[in-house]
Amino acid sequence: MRRISIFGATGSIGQNTIDLLRRDKAAYQVVALSGGHNIARLAQDAREFQAEIAITAHDARLDELRAALKGSGIEAAAGSRALIEAAGRPADWIMSAIVGAAGLAPGLAALKQGSTLALANKESLVCAGPLLMQTAARYGARILPVDSEHSAVFQALVGERIEEVERIIITASGGAFRDWPLEDLKSATLAQASSHPNWDMGQRITVDSASMFNKALEVIETKEFFGVDPAQIEVLVHPQSLVHALVGFRDGALMSHLGAPDMRHAIGYALHWPDRKSLPVARLDLAAVGQLEFRAPEQGRYPALRLAYDVMARGGLCGAVFNGAKERALDHFIAGRLGFLDMAGVTEDALAQIETDAGLIDDAMTLENVSRMDDLARQAVDRRVAEKAG
Ligand code: NDP
Ligand code: MG
Repeated sequence: MRRISIFGATGSIGQNTIDLLRRDKAAYQVVALSGGHNIARLAQDAREFQAEIAITAHDARLDELRAALKGSGIEAAAGSRALIEAAGRPADWIMSAIVGAAGLAPGLAALKQGSTLALANKESLVCAGPLLMQTAARYGARILPVDSEHSAVFQALVGERIEEVERIIITASGGAFRDWPLEDLKSATLAQASSHPNWDMGQRITVDSASMFNKALEVIETKEFFGVDPAQIEVLVHPQSLVHALVGFRDGALMSHLGAPDMRHAIGYALHWPDRKSLPVARLDLAAVGQLEFRAPEQGRYPALRLAYDVMARGGLCGAVFNGAKERALDHFIAGRLGFLDMAGVTEDALAQIETDAGLIDDAMTLENVSRMDDLARQAVDRRVAEKAG
């Protein structure tokens, strides 16, 4: 039996992962499941799979989790230390599907046991790509991409050599507002930004898809994961979300990956890699689809994309600042304190401010320094939002 842990088990990726495990329960032994506020779901899944331990990220919810697991013999724990401890428990395959920078420390702890990390948590690559990749190399661990575009690139590269790659094109649906007039975006609401035309995902990544912050993170993720030059990475708007990525080789050939927009494909590929097993995803009927559309992203509509290239050019700990600022800007948008288009503005301001005031961007890439830059970025955004309000 393969030993499996899922961090962020109660979320969209976590539940899709559990759906796949449920179809072949005898093959898996669940070690750890983690969640946040959704204690009922966490306890129910931990009981169903007879997990060894269930962890909530929030200390204040520990009693509730203990009560929900009473009599099951399953350990209950809470807080960031407990997450790191559980990530270090021996497992063959660990899903990293916590949302945000909070996924970084458990991901690093998981890599240190030298097994396979299925990485949905793109934020950890954006904040600390070199640290993550070096940790994997040092401990003999493997990282498999779960983000659909990166899984697509990974699959298109099977049997190929990365030196022969000329360009990597990741597609973007364009999100909820792709056809809105630009001037209307200013007043876009949370409810409007929270509905994705093609994918069913957690709320934060759905809003990030509308603003293209998600694609900005994915461009950086591409650089960190595949080790290519930023100039080799392109974004193409593809409203149908059927072609997930294309890899262009130096002879001009383009290899693309197509599939229905269902995350169980990328999760299942990572779960069974290097084999392919039957997956419960819809098969594409291209004759019924008829046409595939593509267009270049409009510069003015997606300022976050430009920021991603600035961040890659700057290097160092800039990714941690970018991600922290962007996460905090999203908190403010969700709380109704910041307009939709202002998220990119305050993120850019935070980047500029930390570069001039703190001068720490070129410090060594350690978990401590990454966390410090993340804190500074969040504080800079808070100050900027307070100034705007005042
Ligand atoms: P969700 O919001 O649906 O789930 C997030 C998970 O993380 C939940 O289990 C949540 O717990 C937990 N969580 C939230 N905050 C914290 C915290 N501070 N510390 C520890 N755990 C926390 O997110 P998604 O599943 O949509 O996304 C997960 C990751 O996968 C993200 O990095 C996202 O970018 C990436 N991804 C997602 C895709 C998708 O289709 N959803 C596609 C590609 C990548 P609870 O809900 O119990 O509070
Ligand atoms: Mg993606």
